[in-house]
Amino acid sequence: MKKKLLSLMLVAAMALAAVACGSKEETAEAPAAAEEATEEAEAPADKAVLVMATNAEFPPYEYYEGGEIVGIDAEIAAAVAEKLGCELVIEDMAFDSIIAAVTSGKADFGLAGMTVTEDRLQSVNFSDTYAHATQVVIVAEGSDITGVADLDGRKVGVQLGTTGDIYAEDITDVTIERYNKGFEAVQALSQGKIDAVIIDNEPAKVFVAENEGLVLLDEAFTEEDYAMAIAKDNTDLLEKVNTALAELTEDGTLQAIVDKYIAAE
Ligand code: GLN
Repeated sequence: MKKKLLSLMLVAAMALAAVACGSKEETAEAPAAAEEATEEAEAPADKAVLVMATNAEFPPYEYYEGGEIVGIDAEIAAAVAEKLGCELVIEDMAFDSIIAAVTSGKADFGLAGMTVTEDRLQSVNFSDTYAHATQVVIVAEGSDITGVADLDGRKVGVQLGTTGDIYAEDITDVTIERYNKGFEAVQALSQGKIDAVIIDNEPAKVFVAENEGLVLLDEAFTEEDYAMAIAKDNTDLLEKVNTALAELTEDGTLQAIVDKYIAAE
């Protein structure tokens, strides 16, 4: 009798987990990272998965390390998935495909250093924010561009569909060069093809550290908040994610993840 009750409870718990996780295993495309492929192969067929859409070109939030997607967002997603009792699968795609992946149900959530904007809120819900960011300007050492005002009439590189792209449009007479990856814009700057790059502050620091001859301007462009994008009709997942994020903030896990990737200044 007791045993029967226990197994009933187990079935109920599994059903609940399946609701929260989305159970996208059959529809998920082949994962990009080798490691995920192994994980998927090992997972029991009926294990509910939570699919994260990201663009793994955005250190320290998401990037490849030895074929595996790592970073602040990847670790936060893993911690949230664990709390929800789901297996995390990360799908790497172009940044401007993430919202569509979420609204179409191809992914359960988008987590990609994504800024909460009014425009995106028309298509998706955002979780509580987990990080603060700014848009900053990278220029070549010795450039005569010393502030945002000097960008007028210049060639500015951005990553397609990002807030940097949107803000660049507000600059008078600017020529915007759009790249699929942030580091492609940085490369073009290194090669002297463009005059500046507008990009989020933490990736900017990584790119400047990795590429000689580039500097960050002190003046920041905007203040922004990052959050997880979730389909508007999936309020169940939104609530569970917010509860998980609150717990991870409360017990210090979130800060420990950030500290692992961003050295205190
Ligand atoms: N925070 C920026 C945005 O949301 C850039 C994000 C990214 O390139 N991954 O548009």
